[in-house]
Amino acid sequence: MLILSKVSKTYANHQVLASTDLRVLAHETVVLIGPSGCGKSTMLRLINGLIQPDSGSISFEGTLLTTDNILQIRQRMGYVIQEGGLFPHLTVRDNVIVMARYLRRDAVWIDSRLDDLVQLVKLPHELMSRYPAEISGGQRQRVSLMRALMLDPDLLLLDEPLGALDPMIRYELQLELKNIFDQLGKTVVMVTHDIAEAAFFGHTIVLMQEGRIVQTGSFNDLAKTPSEPFVEKFISAQRQPMAQLAKGLQ
Ligand code: ADP
Repeated sequence: MLILSKVSKTYANHQVLASTDLRVLAHETVVLIGPSGCGKSTMLRLINGLIQPDSGSISFEGTLLTTDNILQIRQRMGYVIQEGGLFPHLTVRDNVIVMARYLRRDAVWIDSRLDDLVQLVKLPHELMSRYPAEISGGQRQRVSLMRALMLDPDLLLLDEPLGALDPMIRYELQLELKNIFDQLGKTVVMVTHDIAEAAFFGHTIVLMQEGRIVQTGSFNDLAKTPSEPFVEKFISAQRQPMAQLAKGLQ
């Protein structure tokens, strides 16, 4: 579904993405993980054409992304940015349908799509007339997901979609999100910095460090056959505090 071939990006002499190859198969969930600043969000922005690579190419469902076709192709990609990115001056409903309206989709279609999505993300209908500041963080993330799904995209790009939530809400939403992905059969590229979340969602985990992919594989591949010491270090750095905490509680 998605092929990045020798894609690189540099900002003012700072290479944020070295020459990178990545393949994403239809219906799989690929999780980009790595320390802050390693280039995860940059990769998502390159995929949906918000920024252009300095070299290399990106193709989506067999079509090479260009500045001429990106607006069209972007409509087939749902994107949830960090913190949700809802427009504060628009109601929840208007946030969700903003693109559909811009594209002059039929009003009956919009209403029926909205109904389906409200059910899918399990939000009460009366919330639709509120503003983002009048709903909880977890609800805002559900609304962001509704907005990303509105045009029924083939690909979902999620940048730390659960990052700002407290642990209980996060856990609940993780389960629901996974259900939604399975139910809809979407292809998903998700960014997280949490290895447990990566293992939970990712058919494929892409571990990055300083603008390059260090290892690609299942969580088991990374845990059992790390390609270099950094992989082991990254996984155990997140696991050890939990294990120590659990030990201390025994
Ligand atoms: P991550 O998502 O892994 O935390 P990012 O992809 O956001 O990392 O950023 C990777 C690096 O690129 C960081 O060092 C960041 O400061 C830099 N960067 C990102 N966007 C820009 C920009 N528009 N201009 C200059 N540097 C940028």
